[in-house]
Amino acid sequence: MKNVSLTPAVFHLSDAVNAIAKTYGDNPVVPRGPKLKPLLGRVQRKIGAALGSGDSHFPVMLTSSGSGALAAAVASAVPESGLLVVSNGAYGERQARYAKQLGIKTVHYALPYGVRPDVAEVERLAREHGVGAIGMVHGATSTCSMNPIKEVAKVARDVGAIFLIDAIASVFVDPIDMNDIDVLVASTNKALHANPDLAFVAVRNELMEEIAGRQGRAPYLDLGEAYLKQRAGSHPYTINCRALMEVEAALDQLESEGGVAGRHAIYKSRTDLLRAGYDRLGLKRFEHEGMPLQSIGTALMLPDGITYDQLATALADWDNGDGECYEIYSAQGKLSGSVFRIFNMGHYELATYERFLHALGETLARLREAK
Ligand SMILES: *Cc1c(COP(=O)(O)O)cnc(C)c1O
Repeated sequence: MKNVSLTPAVFHLSDAVNAIAKTYGDNPVVPRGPKLKPLLGRVQRKIGAALGSGDSHFPVMLTSSGSGALAAAVASAVPESGLLVVSNGAYGERQARYAKQLGIKTVHYALPYGVRPDVAEVERLAREHGVGAIGMVHGATSTCSMNPIKEVAKVARDVGAIFLIDAIASVFVDPIDMNDIDVLVASTNKALHANPDLAFVAVRNELMEEIAGRQGRAPYLDLGEAYLKQRAGSHPYTINCRALMEVEAALDQLESEGGVAGRHAIYKSRTDLLRAGYDRLGLKRFEHEGMPLQSIGTALMLPDGITYDQLATALADWDNGDGECYEIYSAQGKLSGSVFRIFNMGHYELATYERFLHALGETLARLREAK
């Protein structure tokens, strides 16, 4: 049985990425040996090429999941004057929590989940508190919506603050103009379609030099320390070289699909198909004004009288003789009783989503009948 993952965390990957683990054991790369430098350099160059930031930003690679990169970015890049976090979902709240835990002066503009931030209020708060950085999530995974980064980037420029975005869920699939961004937090397992072993923070070159000149607030997750070593082709700690090779394979795969624009088109064909299907099945989307939908998935309202557990269990147990079952995703925090999420990430053919829509339709009909 193939467990099709309709989640944003772990899903099927391309054969090229999967092939690495099958041969790596016979030919490992020593993290401090001479083979690290060219490998690390290629990965960083290919990230720069994919994001169009090769000349402007340095991607510091870290062995961690995305949240480790978020902690490193906040701990290393935010100046003494503090951070304004604009939050409207679980990961913005996490960003504010990390900043506070690091002892950083934190101003938290906390909105209900999925509600568009008021740009004038962002500017007012930034000026009132004199913060040196503004942080926000780009693709908001908890609500499957997109935050207005262009508008908030302009505020950051106007008030002279660093603009830090958590693009863990959006980078490589929803286009980002890196000219707007000073610090971009990313991981390799979501839209890049590699395994969840590595993450990176791309920092604007001038800011990177500044960061390298001072000590970060968190040992180990110190971007300046890592940058100084990586610039010379090494890393201060053990880095996962198998994962680096998988990331390189994933970047080559992305390139073969036409880069970010090509992958965005693939995801759009998926969301077009799926959202039309949800409409046909009478499922209502979780949506707020002024917040476009994200490409990686869709948040939907649970139909009356059907619980998330019933729906998720029925789809996970789906057996129609075609060899597939489906794993969907609950909503986070305050939304978990009323909303659920279906993601469309990973290396799947469009026909997979057609079969899933069929399974979803049958499952909903059965659950409605059983009520
Ligand atoms: C998934 C996600 C994270 C957390 O990443 P982990 O790899 O689970 O640590 C943070 N921010 C956003 C926007 C995400 O989608």
